[in-house]
Amino acid sequence: MNQDFKRLLVTAALPYANGPVHIGHLAGCYLPADIYVRFQRANKRDVQFVCGSDEHGVPITIRALKEGITPQDVVDKFHAIIKDSFTQMGISFDIYSRTSTDIHRQTSQAFFKKLYDDGLFEERESEQYYDEERGMFLADRYIVGTCPVCSNENAYGDQCEKCGSTLSPEQLIQPRSALSNAVPVKRKTKHWYFPLNKYEDFLREWIIDEKKDSWKTNVYGQCKSWLDSGLQPRAMTRDSNWGVPVPLENAEGKVLYVWFDAPIGYISATKELLPQAWDNYWQQQDTKLVHFIGKDNIVFHCIIFPAMLKAHGQYVLPDNVPANEFLNIEGEKVSTSRNWAVWVHEYLKDFPDMQDTLRYVLCANAPETKDNDFTWKDFQDRNNSELVAIFGNFINRAMVLMHKLCGGRVPPFHESLQEDRDIELIRHIVAVKTKISELIEQYKFRDALYEVIDLARRGNRYLQEKEPWKLAKVAEEDTEAQQKIDNCLHVCLQLTANLAIFCNPFLPHTAKKVCHMLKVVDRMLDWENGGRIDLVKTNYPLREPQLLFRKIEDEEVNRQREKLVQASAASKPVVAGPTEHAEIERKAEIVFDDLSKIELRAGTMLAAEKVAKADKLLQLRVDLGFEERTIVSGIAQHFSPEEIVGKQVTVVVNLAARKMRGIESAGMILMAESAEGKLVFVSPENAVAPGSEVR
Ligand SMILES: [Zn+2]
Repeated sequence: MNQDFKRLLVTAALPYANGPVHIGHLAGCYLPADIYVRFQRANKRDVQFVCGSDEHGVPITIRALKEGITPQDVVDKFHAIIKDSFTQMGISFDIYSRTSTDIHRQTSQAFFKKLYDDGLFEERESEQYYDEERGMFLADRYIVGTCPVCSNENAYGDQCEKCGSTLSPEQLIQPRSALSNAVPVKRKTKHWYFPLNKYEDFLREWIIDEKKDSWKTNVYGQCKSWLDSGLQPRAMTRDSNWGVPVPLENAEGKVLYVWFDAPIGYISATKELLPQAWDNYWQQQDTKLVHFIGKDNIVFHCIIFPAMLKAHGQYVLPDNVPANEFLNIEGEKVSTSRNWAVWVHEYLKDFPDMQDTLRYVLCANAPETKDNDFTWKDFQDRNNSELVAIFGNFINRAMVLMHKLCGGRVPPFHESLQEDRDIELIRHIVAVKTKISELIEQYKFRDALYEVIDLARRGNRYLQEKEPWKLAKVAEEDTEAQQKIDNCLHVCLQLTANLAIFCNPFLPHTAKKVCHMLKVVDRMLDWENGGRIDLVKTNYPLREPQLLFRKIEDEEVNRQREKLVQASAASKPVVAGPTEHAEIERKAEIVFDDLSKIELRAGTMLAAEKVAKADKLLQLRVDLGFEERTIVSGIAQHFSPEEIVGKQVTVVVNLAARKMRGIESAGMILMAESAEGKLVFVSPENAVAPGSEVR
């Protein structure tokens, strides 16, 4: 750690209290954060680790409405489940708070008020549909009515799923609220916008110039593309009755946008933890602030929250935001709506007392630089061939042999018989300590963990070469043979103690078990003790070994795979609609230059006909203003040729031409696809001249 920092404040993303946590969450930020913090604590650094449940936002209110309970019921239930999962997994927060507390309401309101008093917000007015029965504004998706095109009575305010027409709520015949069935009315509403655009220069200098070398490339790259595409003012308030009330006169029914109040949750949790000293961690420049998050939160933690902190003026900015990529499960993206996930609370039930196995696998396979895949087969393999066969095996053999060949006490080390192999192994212990320290400071936890296992592997090799069990056959007559056994096991036991120190940030439950066997206090795990070879004293009696890890059988992982598939098949799709925390399948990030390679223009459909012997294809003639094009499109099952002539569409103009059924197709028409596979055109909302650029 940079010596200029006196103290550390580490935050982990606030989990959304709308469901339990899954192993992707653990791998994404909680486990790396915990490893980092445990390492810092072992180094006796002044560090605080804060987190809590994010309990506001639309999805929670929708879930409550659907289940006929209050939003408070929803968050109470999941806050308890989430908190318990973290505790059991050994995620060692100094505080796990929640955003529905009074202290959080006060803190986030004061923050908002400061920006308001400084004249930072822009007030803007707009008209939105309002449900008078529920007393709330409705997003388009929550308005239903009869489709003007096909008379489907359950069309949504943004789209008819039956005929695929794109709609606006005004087009629906007899619109009604999806929540209450009441007829929605138009109401004016006012919101406060944070002028993010005014912080562009500051963010450029702070991130692009200063963080290029220290931030992970995925984080830096995403920030850069956000900045390059330009920042816009963002509404920091919402119409809702669930959240932190906007602390202004005439702002009834308005709350702070969940992404405004959630990161302030880090501050309020610190206040709750340290009522007298919280400001040291937030407002002293010699504090190192580190946000651990998943990649879906980068913009909020690297752009919006820092701009808010900067605007406020009294806070430190994050030194680093080491965001991880996503962890997929058995080759597919995690989806909570399809129940394609491994839930932490269920893992803990199915694999009791095996927290460290999950911690190990998730760290050894962490999505630090790219999306990674969790499979139950890999879980089993890593447990059986690394934790059991290498790490557990070495410590177990050292302990068993010591009991058998050295009378249950730490044997002495006879200097006169010291061999090169002893020196070599001891030197390696010291070198590994430095290496692990450096890697953890660079947020390379996977590589650091590899060094720990590799050290145990060297221990096994050392035992194998020394073969103390062979010497034992002659040790009764041969004093030197017994002394060689002593030396070997003395070194092995010192290595065991070092392994406990080095594995402690990653596998804390295991480190404790080793301390118990060695009859040493947990203080031995202080990092400064790493590399020492006098950690267990000569002639000191040790306990019988206990098994650190057990083998995982095929049936166990087969059962987990079946469970995953069955749970997913049985899952009903949950609320479809706009959510601030929606889960959607995402592609790899691109930079602005990638996007600007695609030439998109509005085109008008001049003619359409079916392609002979191809029941999916239509041959289209499209007017692009500067020229007409022939494009072949696979939409024949969704539209008749007659109904699309005259329509405006979006065309990928510079896509290389290719022949389809003997017809040269020059370009592509953009379509949107509903969950049911229904296609609709992506069209300009109002007519524009053919050839108008889409950008
Ligand atoms: Zn329709």
